[in-house]
Amino acid sequence: MGHLKIGIVGAGIGGLAAANALHQAGHDVVVFEQAKQFFRVGADINLTPNAVRALDGLGPGIAQAARASGARPTHRISRMWDTGEETSRLPMSDEAERKYGAPQLTIHRADLLAALADAFPLDRVRFDKRAESIAASDEGVCIRFKDQSEATELDVLIGADGIHSVVRNAMFGAESPRFTGVVAFRAVVPTERVKDVPNIAAFTKWWGPSPESQIVTFPLNQGRDTFIFATTAQDSWHEESWTTAGNVEELRGFYAGFHPDACALLDACDTVLKTALYERDPLKNWSRGHMTLLGDACHPMMPFMAQGAGMAIEDAVVLARNLAGVDKPAQVPAALARYEAMRIERASSIQVGSRGNQWLKAGGNADWVYGYDAWAVPVA
Ligand code: FAD
Repeated sequence: MGHLKIGIVGAGIGGLAAANALHQAGHDVVVFEQAKQFFRVGADINLTPNAVRALDGLGPGIAQAARASGARPTHRISRMWDTGEETSRLPMSDEAERKYGAPQLTIHRADLLAALADAFPLDRVRFDKRAESIAASDEGVCIRFKDQSEATELDVLIGADGIHSVVRNAMFGAESPRFTGVVAFRAVVPTERVKDVPNIAAFTKWWGPSPESQIVTFPLNQGRDTFIFATTAQDSWHEESWTTAGNVEELRGFYAGFHPDACALLDACDTVLKTALYERDPLKNWSRGHMTLLGDACHPMMPFMAQGAGMAIEDAVVLARNLAGVDKPAQVPAALARYEAMRIERASSIQVGSRGNQWLKAGGNADWVYGYDAWAVPVA
């Protein structure tokens, strides 16, 4: 067992996954979160089998909680926007579990965060702590927060602070994420309202006339609800938010020529949320001395492969495996370099692959993404 003093900035999916994995490994972990408490924001998260398998190893409590509140889509289906023609169909649920060791799970983002938070000692999460500056030396790291307090003598600092990461800026210089020209609409409707749409218990992606135009639907809340996720090009609106309301008429207007099954889904929406999508280029390095990054802090990506949260959870597991048994601060830089070497190629190629929005459009082999086991990949 190791007993390093580890600070994690950010209590999102990646930060809490890392907190659990590192706590299990016996380290002294504290999480610093800028929010005053956990808020129930967002709606969906689509976790593919690689993400669920990484999550499962964090403990039976988390695995059971995720399964209890989530849904298991029956298939992953691609349909063309105008004709409705099916261009690919992968069996998920039991078949994915047999093949990859875990099913696909679609879950409310807040339920996933609650499962991760409940498994970690709450008194180790410090709320209302916005990291503002970082000072690093050969011995360790110090964080200064907005309220002028400090966390000092950390053996490891992990930046899990999302796409606008302060830790990343401190490590590699300030650089802003880029607006992609794409906006996303999110809505949740009772499944009863859309039960006549074929395959409503599946994950279905309607491929639009241009790469950024798509509608995705899948079951949520054990199938009681259906989640609708639509993206389109719109250069004139730049707001990044989990809570900003969109306009359902505007939403329907964007997809007016789509197949009647797709339009029926949008017709069922009473309200919709809207956000602009941002991204960055892959980083050349994630680690420096006693500091490293994970999740959106190092590889924010477009949602087209549904891998952002999955990559954050995989990062957390591989990072904890590299720090397991490390008990001397002097060994930390080498452990963080090993973690980076194990993760950077996979995460960067998925980050770049997510831009094109072609993933499984006409079938193809999903094994290299869904078949990855973060708990088994060899540690160098
Ligand atoms: P975040 O979730 O951004 O968490 C960062 C945390 O750090 C937050 O709690 C924040 O408050 C805190 N923080 C930030 N700055 C500071 C600071 N200075 N000090 C202290 N705390 C700080 N991924 C999937 O796998 N499947 C999907 O279906 C999917 N759908 C998506 C749909 C949309 C519309 C979008 C935008 C993304 C989607 N993603 C999906 C991506 C996924 O949401 C992210 O990749 C994931 O949330 C990243 O987790 P994270 O913990 O790295 O960062």
